[in-house]
Amino acid sequence: MVSTSFSEAVTGLDGRKFCSYRVGGPIDLALMPTQYESAVEALKAIDTTTPLTVLGGGCNTLIASRGIRGTTLITKRMLAVEVVDLASGRLRFDAGVPLARVATTAQDHGFSGAEFMIGIPGTVGGAIAMNAGAMGQSTDEIVEGAVVYDCASRQVLTLDAEALAFSYRHSSIDPQRHVVLAGYFRFKPGDAQAIAHLMQQSLDFRKAHHPKEPNGGSVFKNPAPGHPAGRLLDELGAKTWREGGARISELHANFIVNDGSATSTDVLRLMLKMKTAIEAHYPFKVYPENRFVGQPSDEEARLWAQLHDRPLPSSDLEDHAG
Ligand SMILES: Cc1cc2nc3c(=O)[nH]c(=O)nc-3n(C[C@H](O)[C@H](O)[C@H](O)COP(=O)(O)OP(=O)(O)OC[C@H]3O[C@@H](n4cnc5c(N)ncnc54)[C@H](O)[C@@H]3O)c2cc1C
Repeated sequence: MVSTSFSEAVTGLDGRKFCSYRVGGPIDLALMPTQYESAVEALKAIDTTTPLTVLGGGCNTLIASRGIRGTTLITKRMLAVEVVDLASGRLRFDAGVPLARVATTAQDHGFSGAEFMIGIPGTVGGAIAMNAGAMGQSTDEIVEGAVVYDCASRQVLTLDAEALAFSYRHSSIDPQRHVVLAGYFRFKPGDAQAIAHLMQQSLDFRKAHHPKEPNGGSVFKNPAPGHPAGRLLDELGAKTWREGGARISELHANFIVNDGSATSTDVLRLMLKMKTAIEAHYPFKVYPENRFVGQPSDEEARLWAQLHDRPLPSSDLEDHAG
């Protein structure tokens, strides 16, 4: 555990406020640095024998019903933006900068490349970890590197794009080991009208097709090109399915929404129902895009293992699923 004299440490937070699904138990100890330097200071002071969980905006993450033990580093208050070299389109964004701000900052400088980020909730750290994408574009196309705290070596490293090893909704960032502190982005000059048009198109699409109730975005990764999970689920009539307070959105069959009373267990049960149905009817395996953090109940640990086709856990459960 880090010394609680760290000025940006908070104990006993309600996890539901830190995850866009609005589910999950208490966060025992949260560190919410506002500056790069204080994040490094806090990370160096952490007792490495207790688990570390990293959260950005929590827009792709389910927090377990029993909450999060150990230390949770929440990067969403790290908001610095720096122009590294305007002539070559290079900017640095701290981990907590919202993706919409990346898009508008690039736009303000006449740069193209980040239009797809305008409507994606979440932060730079989460987008690098997840290789977030939309409209046929993804984070790897504009990220040159990331400044990362490596909990194993207890050092700050700069990882270039190759070391980040981006693939579809994945990177080499292991949230139990790496904390993204900042990202280096490179943009190209663009046409102001075309940039504005693309952004508006994206916002209009999301308004029409994404639910307003609390949710965590796409539940499953698309199993194969041309076969989006949402369409497969729609064909199966999934838009009427529910488990407790979790139900599938009428607007998008790959989104689960919280009707106000959902628990993490409800969401995981519904996810397993979706996976089972897809795999029973189509020649595809599907795996969660959503991440799951914290101390799972026995049932949650079992459901999460099933969602990844992993062997069922013994009663000696890991502290940290994900
Ligand atoms: C309505 C809605 C629409 C969405 N649309 C899209 C979309 O179009 N495309 C898309 O790709 N996603 C989409 N998402 C999912 C989500 O917005 C993205 O995955 C986003 O990148 C998550 O960022 P975050 O900061 O909220 O990450 P979190 O949910 O906080 O974290 C996600 C993962 O990254 C890790 N992480 C977060 N910050 C750091 C850090 N600083 N260092 C190390 N690891 C970190 C976490 O441990 C976790 O494993 C959508 C979500 C919602 C709710």
